[in-house]
Amino acid sequence: MSPVDETVVAEIDLLDEPAVDEAIARAARSHAEWAAVAPGDRARLLRRAAEAVDGAIEELAMLEVRNAGHTISNARFEAGNVRDVLMYYAGAPERHFGRQIPVPGGVDVTFREPLGVVGVIVPWNFPMPIASWGFAPALAAGNCVVLKPAELTPLTAMRIAELCHEAGIPEGVFQVLPGKGSVVGWRFVTHEQVRKVCFTGSTEVGRKVMAGCAEQVKRVTLELGGKSANIVFADCDLEQAAATAPSAVFDNAGQDCCARSRLLVERSVHDRFLELLEPAVTSFRVKDPAEPDAEMGPLISAARREAVAAYVPDGAPVAFRGKAPTGPGFWFPPTVLDPVTPDAPAAREEIFGPVLTVIPFEDEADAIRIANDTSYGLSGSIWTSDVGRAFRVARAVETGTLSVNSHSSVRYWTPFGGMKQSGLGRELGPDALDGFSEVKNVFIRTLE
Ligand code: NAD
Repeated sequence: MSPVDETVVAEIDLLDEPAVDEAIARAARSHAEWAAVAPGDRARLLRRAAEAVDGAIEELAMLEVRNAGHTISNARFEAGNVRDVLMYYAGAPERHFGRQIPVPGGVDVTFREPLGVVGVIVPWNFPMPIASWGFAPALAAGNCVVLKPAELTPLTAMRIAELCHEAGIPEGVFQVLPGKGSVVGWRFVTHEQVRKVCFTGSTEVGRKVMAGCAEQVKRVTLELGGKSANIVFADCDLEQAAATAPSAVFDNAGQDCCARSRLLVERSVHDRFLELLEPAVTSFRVKDPAEPDAEMGPLISAARREAVAAYVPDGAPVAFRGKAPTGPGFWFPPTVLDPVTPDAPAAREEIFGPVLTVIPFEDEADAIRIANDTSYGLSGSIWTSDVGRAFRVARAVETGTLSVNSHSSVRYWTPFGGMKQSGLGRELGPDALDGFSEVKNVFIRTLE
């Protein structure tokens, strides 16, 4: 269903367990064939897949605007991200080195062996990029992939798989299996031939997936929720920090695991900062996401809107709000809550919607304490003109991905992942390949 106008976009058959088993068996059969493809040829196929995606950017972007309500500018970026991730990991097969380690009496070498079949489970908030962060490095490392898109947003992943097949990646090597999490996703966890699960989604389901994987000591990567802090020190460029704070939390209607949804402001500049923030929030363009200048579209579903609205009940401390269309569609206006105590649910729980909570702090130590007072640890920003402080705070905040004087989004060539209950393992960058291969050590005796 389109979250923009509540009309049906497409109807998809959901796979049942026997169909999933068949697909996993097919992937397992394809593995020897894929692992035997020469590194240069595997690289060439991934490059061709990247080119096929590049040729379909507009088609994929429009599909995401319709199916997920993403703004057209974001959706184009996301489709381009899939292309770039494929192109980046196309460089991997020829460079996925082992090591030679000095030992007495022989030669010792390590190999990076593929795992076999990898199951990738994708959420609905960034259907295209998150799919590619799993399947591209997995394929590059020589694995076969079965990928389950979210129930609400399967269309782009299905189309991307077709493009990969048209580019020459064998169908059994990369399969997209739409279906329910409890059926298809869970089968990845329980099926012995799936050697690794790469899961992105909520912390609640991630915990279950991890516990399930423990049964078979199955490898697992988890990219889970977040409640990231945007820490604004009095010595920063307040104008720039205020101008950029809205997009750091309202982008994708706040349905972003990296959303800087806690605004920690040094108390001495709190009032001035809020004055600067208000026009940036009220002018945030929430409109039909197909419009080229839209900055925010609707929430993904009626259920999500209800969950978000629960954090802004009547009498909530709303400092100011932006505007959103009325009528059909799951719209919710950008909302700033202030004052909020650090123990309030809105300050502690991942809202996953366009709601920002403001929390003042006294000094650097207080800022670090509040930023770390959460079970999450995914992302965050630090605004300061003091480079020493920037490093001190960046090292002290327990989170996997931080930016200073920016709200840098995820870069495909740098590692991404969470600390604490935001996840386990790292995706993207050079580190991702470690998660999709095993190190094998081989000793060869040379002594006569
Ligand atoms: P979700 O956990 O409900 O679902 C995620 C995926 O898991 C879906 O494909 C779903 O069908 C599947 N699933 C559900 N139950 C399952 C089960 N029992 N076994 C196996 N698979 C199952 O999450 P969501 O609502 O789709 O996405 C939102 C959440 O994802 C947020 O918490 C957000 O922070 C998180 N997220 C994290 C990152 C990250 O990189 N850290 C990125 C995006 C989203």
